[in-house]
Amino acid sequence: MIKYKLDQAHPYYQDVVPKTYNLLQAKYPLARLREVNIYEPEDNDTSMAVALSGGIIQLNGYWFCRNPDYLQDAAKRDIYVPAGDTFIGWHGEMTKEPEHVLVHEFFHILAQNIQDWEQWAVWAWEYATARPELAPTGYALAEPTEMWAEAMAARELGFKFGLLDSLESFLNSRLK
Ligand SMILES: [Zn+2]
Repeated sequence: MIKYKLDQAHPYYQDVVPKTYNLLQAKYPLARLREVNIYEPEDNDTSMAVALSGGIIQLNGYWFCRNPDYLQDAAKRDIYVPAGDTFIGWHGEMTKEPEHVLVHEFFHILAQNIQDWEQWAVWAWEYATARPELAPTGYALAEPTEMWAEAMAARELGFKFGLLDSLESFLNSRLK
């Protein structure tokens, strides 16, 4: 059972957050998401959420206690970053929030229970650093941890990217 501490959250999120995570947890039982709560941000903290060890996801009250339009509008102003000869969205095609951030954080939690996820993540991050057009998103190029979460989120939400086949074959042997 996932513990939800969302009393301060906007009613929309009180509805959508448990729906999203109950489904994901059922689909990926290896992930042991234990708790989802809201945290009070320090000044200037406009990050969306953070995944903590022990299966805990904290959603930033800056976004999650407000009307959902704030977060969705901010996501639509998604910045583009250089990727080889072209540009790539910071979160690629994942401009729907909170869908993207909820799924993204969940896969940080799943990683806590897949032993060698870093093997794929480090390989993919290095490979895509030289060939950024293969990355799922610009943010995925930040570090292997974010490559993992962004690639898994893109896969879950049905977006294609250059490294998807290699991710699928990695997962085939781990999620069965
Ligand atoms: Zn992340």
